[in-house]
Amino acid sequence: VAAVAAVPPAAHKGPLYRDAKAPTAERVKDLLRRMTLDEKIGQMDQIAVTRIQGDCEWSGGALNDACMKTVLKDYAAGSILSGGGMGPSKNTPKDWAEMVNAVQKYAVDNSRLHIPILYGVDAVHGHNNILGATVFPHQIGLGATWDPALVRRTGASTATAVAATGIDWNFAPVADLARDQRWGRYYETYGEDPLLTGTLAAASVKGIENAHGAKQVAATVKHFGGYSEPSNGHDRVPADVSMRYLQDTLLPPYHRAVQAGAKTVMINSGAVNGVPATGSKYLLTKVLRDKWGFDGVTVSDWEDVRALQTRYHLAPDYTHAVALAVNAGLDMAMEPYSAKGFTEALREAVDNKLVSKRRIDQAAGRVLRLKIELGLFEHPYVDASKADEAVLGADADLARKAATASQVLLRNDGNVLPIAKSAKKIVVTGPKADNIDDQAGGWTIGWQRVPDGVELPGTTVLEGLKDAAPQGTEIVHARTAEEAAAEAADADLVVAVVGERAAAEGEADSPRPELAADQQSLVKTVKASGKPVVTVVIAGRPLALGDADGTQGLLMSWLPGTEGGHAVADVLFGKANPGGRLTVSWPKAIGNEPFHYQQLPGTNGGPGSGYEPLFAFGAGLSYTDYSFDAVTVAGDSVRPDGTVKVKVTVSNTGGRDGRLVVPVYASRPVGSAVLAAPKRLAAFTKVTLKAGRTRQVELSVPLSRLAVTPGDLDGAGTPRVEAGVYRLTAGEKSADFTVR
Ligand code: BGC
Repeated sequence: VAAVAAVPPAAHKGPLYRDAKAPTAERVKDLLRRMTLDEKIGQMDQIAVTRIQGDCEWSGGALNDACMKTVLKDYAAGSILSGGGMGPSKNTPKDWAEMVNAVQKYAVDNSRLHIPILYGVDAVHGHNNILGATVFPHQIGLGATWDPALVRRTGASTATAVAATGIDWNFAPVADLARDQRWGRYYETYGEDPLLTGTLAAASVKGIENAHGAKQVAATVKHFGGYSEPSNGHDRVPADVSMRYLQDTLLPPYHRAVQAGAKTVMINSGAVNGVPATGSKYLLTKVLRDKWGFDGVTVSDWEDVRALQTRYHLAPDYTHAVALAVNAGLDMAMEPYSAKGFTEALREAVDNKLVSKRRIDQAAGRVLRLKIELGLFEHPYVDASKADEAVLGADADLARKAATASQVLLRNDGNVLPIAKSAKKIVVTGPKADNIDDQAGGWTIGWQRVPDGVELPGTTVLEGLKDAAPQGTEIVHARTAEEAAAEAADADLVVAVVGERAAAEGEADSPRPELAADQQSLVKTVKASGKPVVTVVIAGRPLALGDADGTQGLLMSWLPGTEGGHAVADVLFGKANPGGRLTVSWPKAIGNEPFHYQQLPGTNGGPGSGYEPLFAFGAGLSYTDYSFDAVTVAGDSVRPDGTVKVKVTVSNTGGRDGRLVVPVYASRPVGSAVLAAPKRLAAFTKVTLKAGRTRQVELSVPLSRLAVTPGDLDGAGTPRVEAGVYRLTAGEKSADFTVR
C-alpha cells in the first residue's frame, strides 16, 4: 500500500463526478444519478473499525480483508471511525497511514463507483491517538489563554498531524459550555461563557480546516446542542433547560463555530426538554439548517440512533428509530456495532415509505459533497513514508507555548512566585508531580486515559522543574506526606502537585468535584511545616480545595499535555509571566452546581449560595501590575454591522512585560420583565503590554451579545436586543450607551 501513495492521481476522463474541475454540485448530482438506493444509504453509515463483527479484528496493524469486505463492500459504508483511541499503541504514524491507505484503497477499488471513505477520529488535543504525537492542553486549558490565534494554531497543528496519517475528519472542537463541575466532560470545553467559547471554537474550526496538511481535514462542532447540562451532572442524562436559556446561552457557541465554516456537526447524545437531540427536528433542521444555514453533514454520536429505540423508547423498532433520526435531519449515523443493521433498517424505512428517497438523496448528497470538497476523489491516499516525521514530536514548541499561556496564577501571597534565584532547596511532592498520564488527561492513546503499560513520552512537572532549576537550586522529590514534611524542614519552598486522575466520558463524572481527601491532607501537612507552599493543580475542572486551600501560591495548570512540565516550570521560575485567566468560576465548596458567573438575580438563597466564588470568572494574576483606566463608547450609535465600538485604556504599571486579557462586560441597570445575567462578556481581546506602557485598545461589541429572549412563561420568543440603557464595563470603569 505504501506504493499507492507514490502514484499520482489519475487524470480522470469519463464520468463527470470524477472531473475535479467540474462544479461540486454538478459532480454530486452526477454521482447520485449513478448510485443505487443501497449505495446511497451506505454513504449515511459510519462504523467503528475496532468494533465491527468478530471477523473484523486488527491483524498486524491492519484490517483484514474479510472485515473490509463486510464493511466497505457488502454494506458500502460511507465512513469509518476509530472512536476512543485508534487501536494498538505500538503502531507508528507510518503504520497508521499505511493502514488507513489500505482501508481507503479497498473502498476505492471495491466500491462500484470507486467512492472513497471518510475516516474520522477524535484528535481533541493534538493527534492524541498516536504514541509520540505532541499532546496539547485540553480545551479547558486552551480556553484559559483567551487567545483565538493560538487556538487556531493548535487546531492547524493537530489537523496537519491527523492528515499525515491519512485521516480526513476530526471530531473537534467541542462547543458545549462548562457550567456544572460534576460533569465529566467539563474539561473538553473552553469554559462557561458563550462568547468566549464560540470565539475559540470558531478559531479551532478555522485552524483544523485550513491546515497545511497532506490532506484537508473536516472539523466537527459537537455536541449540538445543549449537551453540557445534564440534570444530575452525569454524562448523557437528559437536560431540562428553558427555551430562553437554550437560545440565549447554550446555542450561540455552536452557531459561531458553524459560521466559521465547520463542515460537520455532531449531535448531542442526550435529550433536551424531553426530546432526544438525535430525533429533534427543531435542532437538526429548524435551527441548524433553516435559521443558521448550515449545509454540511450532521453525524450522530455513538450509537445514538439505536438509542432512540433502546434508551429512549421512542420507536417500536430500529427501523422506526432510524426513520425518526433521518427525518429530523440526521445525515450520518455513527453506528459502531451494527453496520448491517443500519443500512437494512434504513432500506426498510424507505421501502415502507417512512423515509422519502428525496431525503436519502439530500443526506447522501451532503456526504458525497464533503468527500468532493475534501479532495478525496483526487487524493485519497497519503505518502506514508512522511507520516513519522510529520507527527512524532511535531510542534512541541507550540504545545509548550499553549501550555504556558494556559497557566492561571490564582494566588501569590508575599510574592512567593516567581521562585527566588537564591532558593537552595525545593521540595516537590504530590501524586501529580511525576505523572505524565494524568497531565495529558483523558482521550490520550486510550479512550479514558493512557492504557496501562504504555509509556507516554513527555515532560512531567518534576522533570520540568529539574530541567529549569538554576544552578545551586536543588529539587528534591518527596513521594509521601511524611517525606515531604521531613524534607521541608530545611527547604525554601514546597511545591505540591495535586489533582485528578485522567478519565473521559462517564468515568470522569464526579458527584463531589473536590480535591481527594488524602491530597488535601498532604497539602495540610506541608503547610504545617511553616515553609511557603505553592499548590499546582492538574485537573480538568476547579476542585473544591478544602484543607488544601490557603497556600501562599496556587497555580491552575489544567491538563497541560506532554509539554506541561516545562510550562509549569517556566511560570514557577519566572521565565514566563503568567497570562492565563479563568474561563470558569471556581467554587468555594461543592453543592452549588451548576456554578457560573451568569447566575440570575435571585440565585442567592442564603449563606454560601449564589455567586460567591473562591475565584471568579476571569481571575488570574501575573508578575506585573495592570490597570484599566477608562472605557468609552463611541457615541450612542450602533454601526451598520451591528456592533458598538468601545475603547479601553490599559496600563502595565509593573516591572515586567506581559500579555493581558482585556474583557468588556455588558449589563443592564434596569431590565424588562425577563431576568438577565447581571453581567455578560460582550467582547475581549488579548494584548501584549510592555512594562510601563499604556495603550488604548479598541474592541467591537456585537449587539447580538446583549440579546435576550423576551416573553412570559407561556411562550418564549426569539432573542432580541431590547431598547434601553446598557452599561459596558472593563476593569473598574464603565460607560453607558442607549439602544433605541
Ligand atoms: C463521544 C464523542 C466522540 C465519539 C467518537 C462519543 O462517545 O461523545 O465526543 O466524538 O464518541 O469517539
